[in-house]
Amino acid sequence: MSSYQNILVAVDFSDYGQKVALKAKQLAEQFNASLNIIHVLDNIPMPDTPYGMLIPLDTTDLTNELLEVEKEKFKSICDQLSIDVTRRRLVWGEPQNEITQTASKENIDLIVVGSHGRHGLAVLMGSTAKDVLYHAECDVLAVHLQD
Ligand code: AMP
Repeated sequence: MSSYQNILVAVDFSDYGQKVALKAKQLAEQFNASLNIIHVLDNIPMPDTPYGMLIPLDTTDLTNELLEVEKEKFKSICDQLSIDVTRRRLVWGEPQNEITQTASKENIDLIVVGSHGRHGLAVLMGSTAKDVLYHAECDVLAVHLQD
């Protein structure tokens, strides 16, 4: 196996996220590599989006509350893994796009994802892992997660 220097782990907040994160941490230690982490906010709307008249006025508050919860979860997992603050990425978008684009921008040489996560119907719909593998410009490790 080649020696990796810059690893990116993609975490959702599913029950299996911890296993994926720990595997990435282990690999980073083995290769003496830098560990970067990304979580993509794909389940809450961006607060600054122009919603139009039909959206209730308290939507932004709700979004901000949800955002705070997600930020807290992300911080907790980053702190557990002792990931440097400059190597943490919390972004909006489509997970597969954001993961592969971030990997290219940050010169990542290995992306670590779970073989499945939050999407129970991933087998039918195409999982993030498969999309990342297809579009990534670097190696991808899919951590096997039990059903
Ligand atoms: P899924 O497509 O839900 O089966 O997820 C497969 C794997 O893709 C997960 O184990 C994570 O490593 C990664 N992943 C899925 N959704 C996200 C997300 N929103 N942010 C970061 N990584 C994700």
